[in-house]
Order: sequence, then C-alpha cells, then structure tokens
Amino acid sequence: MISTVVLKFGGSSVADNIKLNVVAEKIISMKKEAKNIVVVVSAQGKTTDKLLKEAKELSAIPDERELDVLISTGEQITISKLSILLNRLGYKSISLTGWQAGIKTNNVHKSAKIEEIYTKKILEELGKGKIVIVAGFQGIDEKGEITTLGRGGSDTTAVAISAAIGADKCYIFSDVDGIYSSDPNMITLAKRLDEISFDEMQEIADAGAKVLHNRCIQLGKKFNLNIIAKSTFTDKGGTIVRKKIENAEVKSIVKSDNLMKIKMVGNFKKEDTVGIYKKLLNNNIIVEDFENTENREIEFRIQKAEQNKVQELLEKNYPKYDISQENIVKLTIVGYGITQDNKILKKVIKILEEDDIEITDISLNQSKIEILLNEINTKALEKLHEELIK
Ligand code: ASP
Ligand code: MG
Repeated sequence: MISTVVLKFGGSSVADNIKLNVVAEKIISMKKEAKNIVVVVSAQGKTTDKLLKEAKELSAIPDERELDVLISTGEQITISKLSILLNRLGYKSISLTGWQAGIKTNNVHKSAKIEEIYTKKILEELGKGKIVIVAGFQGIDEKGEITTLGRGGSDTTAVAISAAIGADKCYIFSDVDGIYSSDPNMITLAKRLDEISFDEMQEIADAGAKVLHNRCIQLGKKFNLNIIAKSTFTDKGGTIVRKKIENAEVKSIVKSDNLMKIKMVGNFKKEDTVGIYKKLLNNNIIVEDFENTENREIEFRIQKAEQNKVQELLEKNYPKYDISQENIVKLTIVGYGITQDNKILKKVIKILEEDDIEITDISLNQSKIEILLNEINTKALEKLHEELIK
C-alpha cells in the first residue's frame, strides 16, 4: 500500500448526482491502494461556461476580480456535494476551498499562477483519517483576493498539491481513458498511448489538443511526478505521463485550426513595425512569427479567438494599411527524437505533396515537427497516421 495519492475528477465526471456516486465509489476503491487520499474536483459539467455567460449578460466587460469570485463558486459546489455524499457512505471527508487548502497564487485574476501551497490544513485533515476534497482552479493572493488559474486549471491544482504534499501518484480522471495518438473523433485509427514523456505531452497540449492543462505538465516534469490520465467510468486503459522515454517514434499527430495569419500592406516605416508589435503586446495579444517581408508587408499569426479584437485594434490605429486575414492549419507531429534523422520529415512531405497540400512553413525542435498549411483533409490525416504511428 502506498502512502498518498491525489485524484482529480473533471467536470463531466461530476456533472450530476449519479456521476458523483460513481466518483465516490472510485475514491472508496482507491482506499485499498493508498492510506491518504486528496481529491481535487472541477465545477460540475458546463457550470463555468454558464457562469461566464451570465456575467457577460450583466456587463460586456465584467470586473475581473468579481468574475473570479463568481466562477470559483462552481468548484465550491462540487466539493461540498462530494463530501456530503462520502460522509453519508461512511467515509470521513472534508471539503476545502482553494484558500482553506492554502493555495497561494499571484494576483493575476483569471490566469493566476500558484506560488506556494501551505499544506498544514490538508496534512492535518489527512492525519485525522479524512479524505480531503479540494476545489480545483482557485487560490488566494497575498491580499486575500480570490483568484482562478485559467480555464482547465484544476489539473494544475491537482499536480501542484501532489508536489507540495509529496504524493506518490497523481491521477487525472475524465471521460476519456487516456491520451490518444490523434483526436479519435477525427481519425478512426487513433490509438491510446500507454505512456508518454512530459516533453511530448507538453507539445501535444501546446499544439492545441485539449487533454491536460499545459501548466500541470510543466509541474509534473519539474517535480518528476507521474501523472496518470484515466477514465472515471472504466478501470481499463490509462496513459502514464512520465520522464523521458528514449525511443524516437511518432507518438501523436495534432491538427489545430485555431490560428489566423494577418497581413498588413502599406507604405510603412521601420518604426511602424515596432509600434504595431508593441501595440499588440500591450493589448495582451499573443503574436507568433511577426515578420517584415520584403515587399513592404507585415505578417504575423494570432489565435483565431482574438481575430475580431485584433482587426478592430489595427483598423483603429493603422487606417492607412490594407489588412487581410487568412485561415491556417497547424499540424504538429510529436515524438522525442523524431527530428534527429530526416526520414520522418521526408515521409510527411511526400504524403502531403501526393495530396497536393501546400506547405507554407516548417519548423522543428527536439520533440516535434510543426507544419503550417492552408488546409488539410481527413484522408491525408488518416494516411499520415497510418504511415507514421506504429
Ligand atoms: N471549471 C474550470 C473550467 O471549466 C476549471 C477546470 O475545469 O479545470 O475551466
Ligand atoms: Mg479539464
């Protein structure tokens, strides 16, 4: 029997009373495996989306402090309900909000970072033999204000607590039974991976696959803590995210179409370029690959979600420019060491060319090949999967 585990349950696993009962059974069954159990939960189902929508109905730009007070309530509902249930089933438990659990963050509302966890309360309650249930996604800053960690942030709460209390394992339970080589809703050949390294997982999350919160992977790597992604609803399957695995093979192919290319054409001066870049940064817009092309154009990539904000900002400040937008598709092929010889890249290019798919950019690092395209069809994606993933 190991000493301590942290179990995290996502929104769809705790969506209603029936599912809460399944979660409670799972927690109780883990009692056989570990002496101490800390549970971290998300808000039920789509609660966070619903609360955000309601706030937007009251104000187009809700105050960020108040938004955090509002959206942190979702997790508070889940912890109390789960604790009520476990106590009724005869298992002593206690629910703790982020601040009660000692989760201290910086003061950036809506995307706060955890700075420290004062573990005294969690450890005391574990010491009394209780199952400790902590609200994910939230903390408190040095002034006592409630903060939240960014969408999907409960994963990060779970891994941060695991590191702080020295847990042996951290399970992330959801409605899927692990990490897949590609989106199974799109690629029929997609298969579940038994294990994957932190770096590879990080690339998959960064590429836009909504699997694990990327900051939880960074933490897992930093503290060398195995993260196990499993389904709440079956004992089978699962994927272990762990330290580097030395086999240069393709683990995953991720397609993301949440990027846009912006082009600005006009008679600009050199100073304008820096001015535009600064303006975007000052408005917290994430800019990729900003460049100044020879034919007096400025080109850069942004997140599609920020398309309207960027268009408005540029039109207002730079009316002299002709501004156009283009859709782009980013294909990320992930696998540690796959770029050490160029066989894989050659194969990829060949498959894309056979399908007349135009490549606009390629970049590589130790763990991934990133390719920009105008578009790609499912057939070509299936073919890449078939040829690259064993
Ligand atoms: N409830 C939050 C969200 O929906 C945090 C989480 O689920 O991890 O983003
Ligand atoms: Mg999540």
